[in-house]
Amino acid sequence: MRFVVRALRMMRRAPMKPGITPMKRTAFARADRIEAREVTKLAVKEPKQRMRKCAVKACRKAFPPRSISHKACGPECAQELVRLEKARTDRKERQVGLIKLKPRKWWLAKAKKAMHLYVRTRDEGKQCCSCDTILVRIGRIGGDYDAGHLRTVGSAKHLEFDPRNVWGQCKYCNDRLHGNEREYERRLRLREGDAMVDGLMADNDERHYKIPDFQAIEAHYKKKLKDLKAAAA
Ligand SMILES: [Zn+2]
Ligand SMILES: [Zn+2]
Repeated sequence: MRFVVRALRMMRRAPMKPGITPMKRTAFARADRIEAREVTKLAVKEPKQRMRKCAVKACRKAFPPRSISHKACGPECAQELVRLEKARTDRKERQVGLIKLKPRKWWLAKAKKAMHLYVRTRDEGKQCCSCDTILVRIGRIGGDYDAGHLRTVGSAKHLEFDPRNVWGQCKYCNDRLHGNEREYERRLRLREGDAMVDGLMADNDERHYKIPDFQAIEAHYKKKLKDLKAAAA
């Protein structure tokens, strides 16, 4: 194929002998048109010197960049950028170091926050787990409703993060009625079945959560919340 194209080009350039009618003129005309088009394309694509603003916020002077990584207008700004970058990584390292020092209860609180937020979001618009109140979000100070435990954290610490044990509950039931336990259990049996509630009531296995467990719980519920929101959107 390439050979044919080359031959055609040579034929086109060869001077025509007098008296011979040219053959396949249309093919040459087409090739000319294609060539003309290529040339215009090239002309359009001719590189134009773009300008970039200096990455140093106090400077922002426009300069012609040499490459993608060329971010500062001159050597002084380049030095400033290196200094800023170093300060940024130092700060990050310090933060990571501080987080490593956080105590167990700090991680517990984060896990709890993530789980409760998930439970409240999941149960929005549903009935309170222990009365007929519909759980609605209207932005009251202190929250519109809670994530309430059937077996309380005080008496059954090991079930604090057990999903069978935590459901959306109105503030009246959770605070004033101290969890409204009897009604909570009765309704949970109706909703989730006796097998589940019996299992929950009989569960006295100690959990020995360590910091990585709380981190995993937090990540788990953050993911579930994200999925929930994605499904609702
Ligand atoms: Zn600059
Ligand atoms: Zn209630």
